[in-house]
Amino acid sequence: MASYKRCIMILADGSRPDVFANLAEQGKLPNIKEHLIDQGSLKHAVTVFPSTTGPAYLPYLTGCYPGTCNVPGIRWFDREKYATAFWSRSKHRSYVGLDTLKMSHDVLPSIQTIFEIVPHSVNIFNGISKGISRGGNKTSFMRLWNWYYAHLTDRWSLVDENATRLVLKHLDSDPTFTFVVYPGIDEYSHMGDPFHSEALVSYERVDDAVGQMVDKLKSKGWWEESIILIVSDHGLSGTDEHLGVNQLLESNGVKTFFYPVVFKKGFAAAHMVSGNGMSHLYLAKGANGGPVPKQAWREACHEEDMTPLQQQALDLLDQQPAVDFMAIRAREGGAWVRRGQERARVYESAGLYCYEPVSGDPLRYGGTTLKLNAEDWLLKTYQSDYPDAVIQILQLIRSPRSGDVMLSAAPGYDLRLRYEVPEHHGSHGGLHRDHMMIPIISNVPFSGETCRSVDVFPTLLEWMGYDIPENIDGISRARLR
Ligand SMILES: [Zn+2]
Repeated sequence: MASYKRCIMILADGSRPDVFANLAEQGKLPNIKEHLIDQGSLKHAVTVFPSTTGPAYLPYLTGCYPGTCNVPGIRWFDREKYATAFWSRSKHRSYVGLDTLKMSHDVLPSIQTIFEIVPHSVNIFNGISKGISRGGNKTSFMRLWNWYYAHLTDRWSLVDENATRLVLKHLDSDPTFTFVVYPGIDEYSHMGDPFHSEALVSYERVDDAVGQMVDKLKSKGWWEESIILIVSDHGLSGTDEHLGVNQLLESNGVKTFFYPVVFKKGFAAAHMVSGNGMSHLYLAKGANGGPVPKQAWREACHEEDMTPLQQQALDLLDQQPAVDFMAIRAREGGAWVRRGQERARVYESAGLYCYEPVSGDPLRYGGTTLKLNAEDWLLKTYQSDYPDAVIQILQLIRSPRSGDVMLSAAPGYDLRLRYEVPEHHGSHGGLHRDHMMIPIISNVPFSGETCRSVDVFPTLLEWMGYDIPENIDGISRARLR
């Protein structure tokens, strides 16, 4: 029999586990400390690549990676549709603004969301609403107004307060599952940096919300059978330097398609930035400087297929301090990881995931070939600078909508120009631990040393007594394995 009857999942967008732990230790998060951490656990866990708002919500809602869901970034380009469809609304996508709502439609139809499994769910300030009942989506239009107003006024605190007000209001109807997004930490971190005072106050605002939720659950006699989870989609690193990848490619003779300039024709590359700290770069096979016919986009362009012009463009990107490393599609499957002269191949073989350095050690894993299962990769690398990077590169490259090259930005840099408003002082999206480490805090303890964001979905379903869908990426951490 299920031990827990309801759950409130708080997505504290952009929150870092170290900041949560430090503030809790300093006594600044009394409610989270008393009701969640002391009763359950605070895990320093690992999110997904790209570590970006939107795609990195999907694990909590589906138990699957963005690559599995075929939503590989905030922006993507569908090369096959571009080459073959006469008319289609899905040749390329940017989930910024109104188009956020298209993400639900773009998720692979066979993937079930938690809203389809758990009856009587409530969704607050989250644009991915696949499968929610008609009355369950409490903020579909209000979300856009809240975001628009806060964007113009910088008053994200008000949106966080509205989130709390809505959770408490709808708690009266005893929803089984409530998913609520708090954007304040992320937004204030982008404006200042991840440790800016406004960002830190936003953590305290989440603590205050937890206090009010616990009080209300207790007053109804429901607390003993309730789960409160606080999770995040990505960390954040401070950013002072910006690299305009689009401009760099264009000034070196590579005609490039990018947002918002989407009416170009005959381009040789498409560049799609996610969270400013990662991007997908798509290259037209055989492009050598002349106009590129649409048909050239039909197939992926592997490292081994690249023309001298394309190799030159990659060399140029590789030399930029903003580019930490690149993962490039390999013809034999998997990817080449390249950092300057250092190269390694990552691939899947007989259920194991392999990292094979050819020269140097681009992911800093000790320089030897490693063949491990997914769990051992997590345990071996979660304290390294690139936690879980092999698994994450391989899940993302499985998506046909992913680029031929995936760029991961070095901490301190991002991959779009300064003039793009608003200037961002905090970035995420990449595979560095500053972007990849996230908190998973709950009043029921997660078993084991650490976990991934994809594990939250099956763990929660097990705690609440629902069947876990087959073929998801996450595994349940409800009990010791
Ligand atoms: Zn986010």
